[in-house]
Amino acid sequence: MTFKELGIIDPILKALKSQGYTHPTQIQKQAIPTLLQGRDLLGCAQTGTGKTAAFAVPILQNIYLHNRPNHRGPRKIRALIVTPTRELAIQISESFSAYGKFTGLRNTVIFGGVKQGKQVNQLKQGVDILVATPGRLLDLISQKIITLDHIKYSVLDEADHMLDMGFIHDIRKIIALLPTKRQSLFFSATMPPDIVALSKKILGNPQKVTVKPQQATAERVEQALYYVAKQDKLKLLIHLLKTKEADSTLVFSRTKYGSDKIVKKLIKAGIEAAAIHGNKSQNARQRALSAFKEGKVKVLVATDIAARGIDVDDLALVINYDLPNVPETYVHRIGRTGRAKASGIALSFCAQEEKTCLRDIQKLIKQKITVIDDHPFPDDGSTQDSNAANNPQKSNRPSSPTTHRNNNRRRKNYKHRNKRRRDSGKIN
Ligand code: AMP
Repeated sequence: MTFKELGIIDPILKALKSQGYTHPTQIQKQAIPTLLQGRDLLGCAQTGTGKTAAFAVPILQNIYLHNRPNHRGPRKIRALIVTPTRELAIQISESFSAYGKFTGLRNTVIFGGVKQGKQVNQLKQGVDILVATPGRLLDLISQKIITLDHIKYSVLDEADHMLDMGFIHDIRKIIALLPTKRQSLFFSATMPPDIVALSKKILGNPQKVTVKPQQATAERVEQALYYVAKQDKLKLLIHLLKTKEADSTLVFSRTKYGSDKIVKKLIKAGIEAAAIHGNKSQNARQRALSAFKEGKVKVLVATDIAARGIDVDDLALVINYDLPNVPETYVHRIGRTGRAKASGIALSFCAQEEKTCLRDIQKLIKQKITVIDDHPFPDDGSTQDSNAANNPQKSNRPSSPTTHRNNNRRRKNYKHRNKRRRDSGKIN
């Protein structure tokens, strides 16, 4: 299958060729014909799959063929692409420029955190395609610098990322301003219920396209599992970070609040760490990431969605502080290590309430993860979580003094065992 066979017109074919694209990627093969026919599209795909060209190429072609600017009046914005971050917005705008360089169509990009002057000047010169982050877009609409009245094509990119960053109200406002007669595209890497609900508000009867990114093979990564009670996870994390002394560790936390809490405790324990998640400002995330890349901070604590933007290839260690409830996420997470190196290390914590997640993960990877019993905070399955202890309704099991004694005994055994080993010179 070639781009020509997908029905792409010559000026765009020429540009794709100059980009070195010989064949369309999977998502391009699926999305381009649908979009050229004018249908709505729901794409379950993330950056790295060739997603940008999958929407940019047909949008350019549709505008070129059906809505080309004429000389009688100023250009009107025909296509709007809304994306969560400045980096993505710039990348998308550059792609439009590259694929559309022989079409005569113009695009520009707007985002917050910088003065608006330059962006306004670009807009005043007239553009056909606008790539925007939500806040700056609404700001310029309220100043009457931008109108969405002539939009024929709208793209909501990285919708899950957008919701994670708290843009839901902005998105709703933007959607309300769009003309009803338009072609809508909606992309998200994951499709939890709130995203599906949002997509239904935006799309008519969409064609659905799902493309999974190339998955790292779990076999290449050395994996280990620690059964640990929820309230002991932090202590185990600190213990592992101090004993493993890896150069770069990525810790996955299920929640944004959780990652902040972990970072606070690590810093208190003398471990340099930073959190990266959707509630952090763009600048704060960028700072954390740069410090991590430069090795100033050895531990980065991230939520799954925020971690997608982390472009670090030689992670020494990945720690799943919380197990993900979507098993494929486990494979993505551990694929963050062992890319550049022959193999990486992924350690996972599993509390009682995560055993179902563990079962699903092991089923997916068709492997039993090696269990490490020999650690100072083992959970024999009977330790209660502190929430449950305070709230009997949350507890599955009645509190038992025997079980606490069991865990304390295990901890003491671990300490004695280690002391014996140290004395005999087996560990240092
Ligand atoms: P994206 O998912 O849009 O961020 O694209 C990921 C990378 O793949 C970018 O560097 C694109 O330039 C590149 N790319 C997209 N489509 C193709 C293609 N058909 N052939 C080769 N590279 C491509």
